[in-house]
Amino acid sequence: MNIENIKQPFIKTFPGDFSYNPMQRNTPKVLFSMVKPVGFDHPGLIIFNEKLSEEIGLGTFEENDLSFLVGNSLPENIQTYATAYAGYQFGNWAGQLGDGRAILAGEITNENNQTTEIQWKGAGATPYSRHADGRAVLRSSVREYLMSEAMYHLGVPTTRALSLSFTGEKVVRDMMYNGNPQEEKGAVIIRTAESFLRFGHFELLSAQKEYQTLKDLTDFTIKRYYPEITSEGTQKYKDFFENICKRTADLMIEWYRVGFVHGVMNTDNMSALGLTIDYGPYSMMDEYDLNFTPNTTDLPGRRYSFGKQGQISQWNLWQLANALHPLIQDETFLEKTLNDFGNYFWENHDRMLGKKFGFDSLLKDDEEFFTNWQGLMHELKLDYTLFFNYLENLDPSGSTSLFQGASYTILDEEKQRKLNHFIAAYQSRLGKNHISREESILLMQQNNPKFTLRNYLLFECIEQIDNGETELLHKLITALENPYQEIYPEFSKKRPSKYDDISGCSMLSCSS
Ligand code: AMP
Ligand code: MG
Repeated sequence: MNIENIKQPFIKTFPGDFSYNPMQRNTPKVLFSMVKPVGFDHPGLIIFNEKLSEEIGLGTFEENDLSFLVGNSLPENIQTYATAYAGYQFGNWAGQLGDGRAILAGEITNENNQTTEIQWKGAGATPYSRHADGRAVLRSSVREYLMSEAMYHLGVPTTRALSLSFTGEKVVRDMMYNGNPQEEKGAVIIRTAESFLRFGHFELLSAQKEYQTLKDLTDFTIKRYYPEITSEGTQKYKDFFENICKRTADLMIEWYRVGFVHGVMNTDNMSALGLTIDYGPYSMMDEYDLNFTPNTTDLPGRRYSFGKQGQISQWNLWQLANALHPLIQDETFLEKTLNDFGNYFWENHDRMLGKKFGFDSLLKDDEEFFTNWQGLMHELKLDYTLFFNYLENLDPSGSTSLFQGASYTILDEEKQRKLNHFIAAYQSRLGKNHISREESILLMQQNNPKFTLRNYLLFECIEQIDNGETELLHKLITALENPYQEIYPEFSKKRPSKYDDISGCSMLSCSS
C-alpha cells in the first residue's frame, strides 16, 4: 500500500493540540489533538477490501501492511490525530465529545484527484475517550465493516471499510449493561470517507464562540466537499445550509428505501457531508414497524425509531442552524429553510415509495394508498424487504398465498382477506401507470433490494469469525456486493423465529 502518500491538510489548516498528552480532558480552542495508536503485539488480518484500496489510491496489499492496518507502524511523514466535536445526545447537550476511539491517519488522493480520509477505529484511547478504553470488540467491528459496505453497494451515501483485523487483545464489555461483564476479542477496522466531519464539529466551535475557526472550518468544508456551491460572502453559508439540509433529507429517504434504522442519531453522529456514519446498534428492518428501534438505550422514548428518522434529522438540522447562525445571522432564512426541509422530505419520500411499488409518477390518491399499505404491513407483520420482492413477482391471477413466507404472524382468513383487498387495489393502481408492466418491474428491481444484511446473519457471521471460520463472512460479502440480485436463495427468507429474542438479533446495545 502507498501509505507514504498520505497527506494531512486538516492538521495544517486548523488549531490543534500538539502536546501528545494522552490524558482525557477538555481541549478548548482546538479542533484536534495529536495521539498515537496504542499498538498490538499479536494482530491478525480478517479481511482486506482490495477494491476499495485500489479505488482510493492506496494500491495493493502486501504482507507487511498488516502492521499499518492495526496502527503498529506508521510512515515517517504521518502524525496521527483525533478530532474534537460536540453534540446533542438523545436531545440533551453533551458538551465536548470527539473521536474517542477513532484516530486519523490523514487523507490519500487517487488518480482522479479524489481525496479520502483514513481512520482507525479501536486503535486505542484518545483525549476524547471519556473514561472509556478506545478499543473495539470483534462484534461491533464486524458489524461496522459489513454494514457500511452493504450500504455502499445499495447505493446509499456512507463511510466505507478498508480492513478488519484482530488485535490479539481481550476487551471487557458489559454487552447488555446488566452487570455481566465478559471478555471479548478485540478488533480494529480502518474506515474511510471523503471526510469524517460531523454536525458536532461546527457545534463545538460555535458553543466555544470560536467564530473565526468556525468560519474557516465552514469555508474548508464548502471548498473541498461542496463543489456545487459557487457563491461568496453570507450567501455562501446560506447555500451551504440549504445543501446540507438537502443531502440530509436525501440520505433519510435512502434509509427509508432500504429499511435502515441507525439507532443513535445524535448530532455528533450526523455527517456534514450527508453520509451514513458511526454504525453502532443499527438494524435493517425485518418486520415493518415504524416504532422499531434496535437500540436498547433508546427504548424509553423511541426517539430514534424507524419512523422518526426524518423528523429527528430535521431536529438535528435545527441544532446545526443554531451553530451556523453566527455566519448567517438571518433567522427568517434559517427557519424557512428548515420548514422547506419538511416539504422536500415528504415529496421525495413519497416519490421513492412510489418507485418501490413500480409507479412512474404519483397520483392524488397515492397518499391514501400508502397509508393503507402501512396499516396492512403493521397488522399482517410483514417483512419490509420480502414484501416488495413478492409484489414484484405477483402472480397475474392475484394469488397471495406466497405472502405467508413474508409474515411474522399467521395469515388467517381475515388477514388473507385484507391482503387480497390490498393487492386488488394495487393492481388497479398499476393500471393507471403510463409505463408498461415490464418497465414498472424494472423500476421495482432498481429500488427494492433482494438482499439485506439482517442482524441475525451478522450474529451468525460474528459467531463464526469468533471461532476462526470465515465462510459466511465471504458469502455475505458476495451477497452484499450484489444486493439487487438473488445470489443465495437461503438469504431471501424472513428472520428465523429462533432469533426473535436473542440480543444482537432483535435488540442491540451501544456497547462496542
Ligand atoms: P457513539 O454513541 O458510539 O457515537 O459514541 C459517543 C461518544 O463516545 C463518541 O465520542 C465516541 O468516540 C465515544 N466512545 C464510544 N465507545 C468508546 C470506547 N470504547 N472508547 C472510547 N470512546 C468511546
Ligand atoms: Mg459516534
